[in-house]
Amino acid sequence: MSRIILVQPLGMNWEPGRKDMSRVANIMPPIGLCSLAGWVEKHGQKADVCDLYAFPDSEGRLLETIRAERPEFVGFSVTTSGFFDALRLAREVKARAPRTKTVFGGVHVSALGDKLMRSYPEIDYAVAGEGEEALLDLMVREGAAPFAKGGIFYRQDGEVRWSGKVVPLPDLDLLPFPDYSKLEGFPREYKLPLFSYPHAPATIAVTSRGCVYSCTYCDRSVFGRSYRYHSSAYLIDWFRFLSGRFGIRHLNLYDDNMTINRGRVLEFCQALTAARLPLTFNCASRAELLDRELLQALKKAGCWTISLGIESGDPGLLQRHRSHAADLDVIRDRVELIHRMGLRVKGLFMIGLPGETEDSIRRTRDYILGLPLDDFNLTKFTPFPGASCYGGLRDEGELTECWELSNCLNVLFVPKGLSAERLDAAFKEIYRLYYKRPRVLARYVTMLWRSPDSWKRFVKNLGSFLQLRRDYRGPKND
Ligand code: SF4
Repeated sequence: MSRIILVQPLGMNWEPGRKDMSRVANIMPPIGLCSLAGWVEKHGQKADVCDLYAFPDSEGRLLETIRAERPEFVGFSVTTSGFFDALRLAREVKARAPRTKTVFGGVHVSALGDKLMRSYPEIDYAVAGEGEEALLDLMVREGAAPFAKGGIFYRQDGEVRWSGKVVPLPDLDLLPFPDYSKLEGFPREYKLPLFSYPHAPATIAVTSRGCVYSCTYCDRSVFGRSYRYHSSAYLIDWFRFLSGRFGIRHLNLYDDNMTINRGRVLEFCQALTAARLPLTFNCASRAELLDRELLQALKKAGCWTISLGIESGDPGLLQRHRSHAADLDVIRDRVELIHRMGLRVKGLFMIGLPGETEDSIRRTRDYILGLPLDDFNLTKFTPFPGASCYGGLRDEGELTECWELSNCLNVLFVPKGLSAERLDAAFKEIYRLYYKRPRVLARYVTMLWRSPDSWKRFVKNLGSFLQLRRDYRGPKND
């Protein structure tokens, strides 16, 4: 039997010179790691989870445990922005326990696995794509090739080798529920984004893997274009467990796109309604996949907010980057329909895509301000190495390759004809214009009774939020 300590690094979720607000607003449990832990333990291995994002001060304790107990493996879940922090930790691990092997997995590794292995000797193994079978194989064989499962980069005779293509799990219901008991302080220490839930404690779950679309800015390295999902029976059991064992009252369903298969969503909603569990949920969709019947079913089952990846208010940019681009009028129609049906709707946008211009920024701004959204999120286009548009970016503008800052808060790509300063100013202006409208502020007032826990957190961190507001305040004549 091998033992692994699975680590969620703190990463570097910041804008230089500004207080990191991301951890104030949102600390989500690393359920991918909890799921891996449950999976390898189900098959006779031993796993622990250490979440340094939630508990940055635990690093010393983690390293001391590794020094004293010498687990066979330490695994890191790696995003692009968190890669170098994970690498730093891997060096610390090697300094204390030279025979402990480091395993890197996650989206950044899935996009660049062999390149990372060639450049960074601190990485002993890289698991690309869906990780369950590969990690288990690695542990069962105690790291010794040949491996029976695909998806593992390893070194042999000084060369980086590849165990072959990943074969995805045939049935997601084979997975045990994520082992939340591995997380210190769950669910109390974990917080969903402010105003995104009606009741606490709240947490996240994922009902499907993958997405059939291929938007140019989206990194699909882990699950590709396959789409698989848990059965309704599995999900109801899982949610009942969360409600009964941890008192969970709300779930953010973090599927890439929950409503791809209309029939399964209807069936799931029916089962959840019949189960009468005391919890609500949020989900994400594409606007054009929604209709009245589906929305009715979602609402009846307890859906509170639907997030829509809209991305831009410019038809040309949508056509170019958003797979199966929907008409902006269709999106507006669906937003209004969701609203009329008594559900909350959140719009997700980005600026700075290849081809962005002053005109397209203005169209996006006006489109956002013209929609009856309950919530919105605007990010700065971030060039992820696994996104299909990545290769052509140097022809489209100025690309800064800086993995640490690849967190959607920094301008790392400047389309021709724009500047980083202009994108930054437009970003702040859209936020400022959105939040200064009385209608929007009134909606947040209703959160006093619709999401009281969010307000408590907001008040507790008022100083930080006021500072953020000051940072976003622009010239008086905007
Ligand atoms: S952005 Fe959303 S819809 Fe597009 S490919 Fe990614 S997950 Fe799918």
